[in-house]
Amino acid sequence: MFSHQPSAISYRLFSDYHTHPQGHRVQRYTQGLLQPWVDSARKMRLNDIALTDHDRYHAGIDFDEIARLREKNPDVQIRAGIELDNDPTHSAIGRQWIERHWDELDFVLGSVHFLDRADQMFDNVSAGAEQFQHKDIDALYADYFRRVREISTTGLVDCLAHLDLIKIHGHRPATKIDAIVNETLDLIASRGLAIELSTAGWRKPINELYPAERIIELCIEKGVPFTTASDAHSHAQLGNNFLRLADKMSIFGIREVCVFEKHRRKMRLCTVS
Ligand SMILES: [Zn+2]
Ligand SMILES: [Zn+2]
Repeated sequence: MFSHQPSAISYRLFSDYHTHPQGHRVQRYTQGLLQPWVDSARKMRLNDIALTDHDRYHAGIDFDEIARLREKNPDVQIRAGIELDNDPTHSAIGRQWIERHWDELDFVLGSVHFLDRADQMFDNVSAGAEQFQHKDIDALYADYFRRVREISTTGLVDCLAHLDLIKIHGHRPATKIDAIVNETLDLIASRGLAIELSTAGWRKPINELYPAERIIELCIEKGVPFTTASDAHSHAQLGNNFLRLADKMSIFGIREVCVFEKHRRKMRLCTVS
């Protein structure tokens, strides 16, 4: 259906909806921690960003500091967000925190980082690859997408992150996964959720966009909208590979991107660069 020919037109991406100001530990939100992210946004010509630290670091999130940051930077939309994991150890508390702060949050990402080992994220590079050794890869894919469907029905997420993260270490299913993906996307569509186009996959062993092209095609068919995302763990990574992503989007004819304010979704058109 899609020609996959590079298009002469390229869109200018304006939003990054997956960022980790705290990185991989609790760091209380301060202007010193957050302002460099807004500076990077400006430099990358982004005017809409979501702060989406992992739920296990919710103690660092400070809505007053986000309000102050907004006051100082009226030219950039700054969304208060979080990434809800399926972390068997921490995410029950994370879910409670999200429920308590739902009205202060603009945006919640839903993510599956855990399979049947509670002590290790399977997407840990490279240790997480152990979890794929001597395993039935098709069964792992089925299990992964079942978990994605589970998090999609919590009522606590606006958008699914890195939808086919299970491919991260390069393991491919032996059979077509269209049926599993279809079931998952139908659920996502029925719940009115978005999915992200994440450049993080280009930094990982798989070296491929999240999600795969086939999944993007299915999303378009089903009317599932997209956010654009880098999954930056440092402000220097904000908008990482967005020119490459813009090229990809132009091939698929994706020009509309969604943004969120208090969980309300709005579609915005990318301008032609
Ligand atoms: Zn993630
Ligand atoms: Zn993330």
